[in-house]
This record gives sequence, C-alpha cells and structure tokens, in this order.
Amino acid sequence: MIPIQRLSLPEDVSARMTILTKRIGLRDVASGARKKYADNLWDGEGDVKKALREVLRRMAPGILGCCMYCGSCTGTDIEHFEPREHNSLQTFRWTNHLLACGPCNSKYKGTWWKCDEETGEPLLVDPTRDDPFAHLVLNLREGIYRSPTAKGESTIELLGLNLPARRFPEARKRAHENAWVVLHNWGQARRDDDEKGMRAALGLLTLQPFADVWQAMLRQAVLPGADIVMRDEPPWVLPLLRDEELRAATLVEFPVSATPTTNH
Ligand SMILES: [Zn+2]
Repeated sequence: MIPIQRLSLPEDVSARMTILTKRIGLRDVASGARKKYADNLWDGEGDVKKALREVLRRMAPGILGCCMYCGSCTGTDIEHFEPREHNSLQTFRWTNHLLACGPCNSKYKGTWWKCDEETGEPLLVDPTRDDPFAHLVLNLREGIYRSPTAKGESTIELLGLNLPARRFPEARKRAHENAWVVLHNWGQARRDDDEKGMRAALGLLTLQPFADVWQAMLRQAVLPGADIVMRDEPPWVLPLLRDEELRAATLVEFPVSATPTTNH
C-alpha cells in the first residue's frame, strides 16, 4: 500500500452523488428500507459507477490501476471503505470510495468494519487518509509486512497481506530484485546521457504492480542503520536510492501534494 492522492470528481457526477445521498438519508433506517433503497440505487447508477471507476483508476498506482490495498494488478472493484452494509449513507460518498481487486474487496474484506474502541479510528489503513508507511513496514528480504500499530496489524491480517496463499511475499521479493536491475539500468543510462533510457527505467520503477516495494526501498535507504539493514543489496543500490534526482522523480510522500513527473 502506498499513499494515494484523492482527485476531484467531475462536477455533474459529484452533484448527482450528493442528491442520491440526500435521497437515501430520507429513508427509514430501522425497517431496513434505507439499505434496500441504497442497494437498488447502487445497482442502477451505471453512469456514476463508470465515472467513479475512471477517476479511481487515475488515482491508483500502475498503468492499469492496481489495487489500492494489496498493490497487485488489477483494481477491478469500487470498494466502499466503510461498507454500505454498515452505513448506507456512505454508498455514494466520494471520500469512501477506493479501487480494489476482487479478492481484497470481496473475499478478504467483505463487509468487515471495526473501529478502535477508544479513538473510534477504523482499524484499516485508508491510503487516501493515512500514511501507509506509518502502519506497514516491509521486510524487503522476506517480502513480509509487520506493523508497529494496531491499525497496521489489523490491516495485514484482514487483507491477508502476508498470506502464502495470496503469493504476495514471493511477488514482493521479485519486485525488489527487479528494482535492482532497473536501478542499474537507470544509473548506466544517466552515465551515457541517455534520457530515453532513464525515462524508461523510471517508468518501470513507478508504474509496475507492487509499487510499495520501490517506495519501501526509497524510505529504508535513508533510515539510520540502513547500511546494516540493507547490507545484502548489490553495491550500486544504496547510493542510487539516496540519489536526489531519482528520489525527486519517484518518491511518493504523504500527504501526496503533487503527481510525480513519471506518473500517468
Ligand atoms: Zn487487492
């Protein structure tokens, strides 16, 4: 998971969603009428969903729009962060929409919803509101996540981010090794004044699935003790991860204020 900047919806879509939310709010909750009404509206509003999907794809990492939770390609589903089964008023609320893959949306998260009893904070990282890297720490060698926070722990467990069955640890390890090769190519292209080669390498680093791996590499390279923690990286890797030009072009910081130059 990497930080994601929420873009604006087209005005007509936004206005339509406000009207729909108001209509839903007029229905009775206790009898279940509100939920049924909201579900019917959601099923029928094909144009709204098409527009939502378009903007969500532009916000998501990767060319095709990767899942905003697990980072694998491809995000196919409009995910309701707070499930509409839990709160129908969130059905058409833009700040509640993310792009997710089918398994994250349906099999793993489903209608799950849990908040911290003291703070009321959802126990799930929302990459448009939270800094994922404050909650999810990637062990690059193992491709496994661990977490220093309850929100992070719950996120890893809920989405199965370390589950061998989802094959993410293996995929992250491969993405890490691929990044070594691409970094090498970028460094070579820069030495050769080969701008096209540099651009191609930047595209590979930023637009591939599992964007979290590259972002974790950039972050961990400048932490105290990085020389020891990252001692198994090939010798060209750490100096390049600390290169200002490369960091400026590819690091996605939280909150996301500007689109990196290589993004789409
Ligand atoms: Zn996913």
